[in-house]
Amino acid sequence: MGLYIILGILGILVLLFLIALLHSLVIKDKDTTSLPRPVDPVYSDRLAKRFSKLIQVKTLSYTREQDNIIPFHQMHKEMETLFPNVFQHLRKVEFEGGSLLLKWRGKSSEKPMVLMAHQDVVPADKTDWSFGPFSGEVTDTEVYGRGTLDTKSTLFSFYQAVEELLEEGFKPEQDIYLSSSTDEEISGFGAELAVEYLKKNNITPYIVLDEGGAIVSGALPSVKRPLALVGVLEKGYLNLKFVAKSRGGHSSTPPKNSPIPRLAAFITDVEKRFPLKTKMIPEVEDLFKTAAPSMNGTYRFLFGNMWLFKPLITWLLPKINPYGRALLSTTIAFTMQNGSDAANVIPSEAYVLCNLRTHPIQNIASSIKVLQKIANKYDLETILVEGREASPISNTNGDTYRYLYDQIKAAYPDVQISPYIMLGGTDARFFSEVTESAFRFSPIRMIIMN
Ligand SMILES: [Zn+2]
Repeated sequence: MGLYIILGILGILVLLFLIALLHSLVIKDKDTTSLPRPVDPVYSDRLAKRFSKLIQVKTLSYTREQDNIIPFHQMHKEMETLFPNVFQHLRKVEFEGGSLLLKWRGKSSEKPMVLMAHQDVVPADKTDWSFGPFSGEVTDTEVYGRGTLDTKSTLFSFYQAVEELLEEGFKPEQDIYLSSSTDEEISGFGAELAVEYLKKNNITPYIVLDEGGAIVSGALPSVKRPLALVGVLEKGYLNLKFVAKSRGGHSSTPPKNSPIPRLAAFITDVEKRFPLKTKMIPEVEDLFKTAAPSMNGTYRFLFGNMWLFKPLITWLLPKINPYGRALLSTTIAFTMQNGSDAANVIPSEAYVLCNLRTHPIQNIASSIKVLQKIANKYDLETILVEGREASPISNTNGDTYRYLYDQIKAAYPDVQISPYIMLGGTDARFFSEVTESAFRFSPIRMIIMN
């Protein structure tokens, strides 16, 4: 009887294995005809030279303390010269710090669309660059400079598109807003002011598009076809401090359980047994399902058969790949620490700081509770330094995602399109307050160098 049961189980396993194998052969990407749309070299040359003008303005993020508005006014002047029709026909609202919101009136005020970018960039050290970071050098194939990617490229693109459409006499179906903050890189208030303005004027965006994902090649192992990754949520941010106290003492007569060994034991505990939740949400599953057909044999067998291997992948992936962990959990990184000031003094107090990137499957309160419980074992105090919850997940089952999907497919016929989780933050999170369709995607081709 026992033998029959074992044989039965073995038979089922073999059958499941064969079905999975067959399925991985069926889904294999056989499309070799979808090619990128051709680029007009004369047009792209003209655009590169125009784009370079924006790169040449040194727009380091605006702060209230420095009140560094002058470069942003230079930027606006440059934009007005490049896009005269835009500034003539669209209604401009300028917020404190030079953030802009322009309204292009459409045939209807229903279903307004917001296109977002930011005017500011992070500082750049000249020595790391082949050409000056604010030179905007245009070579045969490249435009060099800070902000070419993040994200004057999108800013330039939608202004250029509107400029050209206005020249053609085009009128959009719905109102379109062009939003650009001047302090995104320092998590400032520019985008928040734009959202407040929309709320005050009862404007509910139908769709919001900001930076975030792009069209990437080489982001997932063995995937040859470019993937258009549409960010549908942003992870949150949490800094926790764990403090160990004692009576201190001299290093010549060290007592047991002094602060640093207790902190070390705590860190080892957390590193050894990952204590937070791990889960594959549908948006992450979608990413693997989309990519699987263009993976090589083994990967396709695993990722193309989520119905069978999801539990295995969810268990294994975070253990072998840090990016996999980031997709499936809140991450924990120990980043700062402090003890005594002298080599021969045992500190009376020491701390370690822990930076977490919170996943929507586990909120801040729950993450703190879990870590605090472990910290208590080592007699550590847990202090919340700062925290921001993960953004809501944008709706990928509605019309807006479908609309975006179709637009990407039309412009980039060779790519596959998938939702994705953003590990960093963007201005779009403020817009989650006024729409369930805040997507983070720049239609830019990127190659990830491994
Ligand atoms: Zn950016």
